Amino acid sequence: MAAQTYLFPCLKDNFGVLLHDPESGATAAIDAPEAEPVEAALKKTGWRLTDILVTHHHADHTAGIGPLKAHHKCRIVAPKNEAQRISPVDEKVGEGDIVRVGSLEGRVIETPGHTAGHVSYFFPADKLAFVGDTLFSIGCGRVIEGTPEMMWQSLLKLRSLPDDTRFYCGHEYTDANIRFAKTIEPNNKALATRAAEVAQQLAAGKPTVPTTIGAEKTENPFLRADVPEVAKAVGLAESPPWKVFAEIRERKNRF
Ligand SMILES: [Zn+2]
Repeated sequence: MAAQTYLFPCLKDNFGVLLHDPESGATAAIDAPEAEPVEAALKKTGWRLTDILVTHHHADHTAGIGPLKAHHKCRIVAPKNEAQRISPVDEKVGEGDIVRVGSLEGRVIETPGHTAGHVSYFFPADKLAFVGDTLFSIGCGRVIEGTPEMMWQSLLKLRSLPDDTRFYCGHEYTDANIRFAKTIEPNNKALATRAAEVAQQLAAGKPTVPTTIGAEKTENPFLRADVPEVAKAVGLAESPPWKVFAEIRERKNRF
């Protein structure tokens, strides 16, 4: 049976998301920005929380873990390379590890850069990816603990997922990301089309995620650092893609 998801806002601009296996009844929260909206989402769906899959240690992804664990006795799965900064943790995972949520089978993809141990979770049967603060729609996370080269490699891993993979990210930043992306690729038609869609979604009070890897490949400048026109647009036509990526990220930091 196909996995079900339920997306809801948390804190100022975070997303919470539940992943539900209808066969077993198991439900995972991907990160836990705060407990209350997760509890409200569980109540609304009638789902029972069995697991929390943590992408990285930042407080706006982990603050709800303690109270949710206390209430639901759920299993906490966290990246092994920063598990010491997350509490409590039941299972530490790294590249290629399999994480089961009931009968759903996810694969861990290490995506360091935003934080040193950041992981993403990919569920191939349902083509669902949970990417935390590595990839955003039309954007990417700030490179806080890693290097731009490391972050670019992480983005390449996510870019290599099937085009029809739907991904959920940690924040609703799409509108600001589009405004920035237009400064890099003012003539990108796919981006213009997406901008119109996003404006409609936001006006209707709807989230702009999930979106697909395939769409982002044509719209997201951070996934397009190896496209010659993009490199040229930032004055780095002969540079390696990670340097082009670094320049785009730097410009976004100042935007
Ligand atoms: Zn973060």
